[in-house]
Amino acid sequence: MMHPWLVPLWQGLSAQPERLPHALLLEGPRGIGKRDFALAFAQALLCETPSSDGHACGQCVACHWLAQDSHPDFRLLEPLTGEEEGAAEDGPPTRKRREINIAQVRALADFVNLSSHRAGSRVVVIHPAETLNPAASNALLKTLEEPSPNTHFLLVSHQPHFLLPTIKSRSFSLSMPQPSPALAAAWLKDQGINEAELCLALAGGAPLLARDFADADYLKERRLFLSALQAPKQLNWLALAEQGARADLAARFDWLQKWLYDLVSSRLAKHVRYNLDFAPGLQELAARVNLPRVQHFARELAQIKRRLQHPLNPQLLLESVLLSYLTAVN
Ligand SMILES: [Zn+2]
Repeated sequence: MMHPWLVPLWQGLSAQPERLPHALLLEGPRGIGKRDFALAFAQALLCETPSSDGHACGQCVACHWLAQDSHPDFRLLEPLTGEEEGAAEDGPPTRKRREINIAQVRALADFVNLSSHRAGSRVVVIHPAETLNPAASNALLKTLEEPSPNTHFLLVSHQPHFLLPTIKSRSFSLSMPQPSPALAAAWLKDQGINEAELCLALAGGAPLLARDFADADYLKERRLFLSALQAPKQLNWLALAEQGARADLAARFDWLQKWLYDLVSSRLAKHVRYNLDFAPGLQELAARVNLPRVQHFARELAQIKRRLQHPLNPQLLLESVLLSYLTAVN
């Protein structure tokens, strides 16, 4: 079932399959269903008996192969996990950043130059395209410059400004729509999610991301962490850092960053964007803090977050960040 907010786009694209550009760039914020859309669209292109509204049948040989990840005319390029990456010929095995490497794109060149197995279309989905490393981007460019007939590229991107301009210029860009808050909340409730409005706010309005946030343990840990931030006078930063370092460090940084945003926004605009459930506490704290100091710390935190991937000592890092927080708000 296509996500309801993407249906109009789906209808537009599938109305004239013969006029489909060779390469489509599906761009938009994370968590709005771009990957689901690309995979469903790929299936529809490969399906041997699609329905009149352009959806895959789910019954034919092609649909079965896709369901088993074994369709010979389909490729999905995604960043390799650490382990696979160590085994790849390209780049040192110590490379930490998850990216799509040149070996993956070279394999694609052979694939698009063979004739398709089912005498139909071939489809390549690249997700997210900004994880193509520079060598892989250049290799892909060559493939895009010499389009093979009946080959479709579906590039998915959360951050299209990181793509090579030449790749963008060879693709037809489509901005994927984000649902209205009401539609997104209704969709989440249909998925059985209780705190739909809160999760949606935490996800900046992106419904699939909101669904990921709607995990009872995650929300409980978040509430404990934010309750501590809310009462800086009582905050035991050593204990909080020790707990946090053993758990999901990136989540803590995310919570703290959104907390600071809300603190500044509460003070300047009397508005809470993310942490709806802490609005009164945020207002109260915001009235007392030294605003420039909080803003300065928020900028510092953004810097630290960029280098977060593999900290030498997570606990020490979190300790120093929490101490800076206390200095900023007390
Ligand atoms: Zn089918």
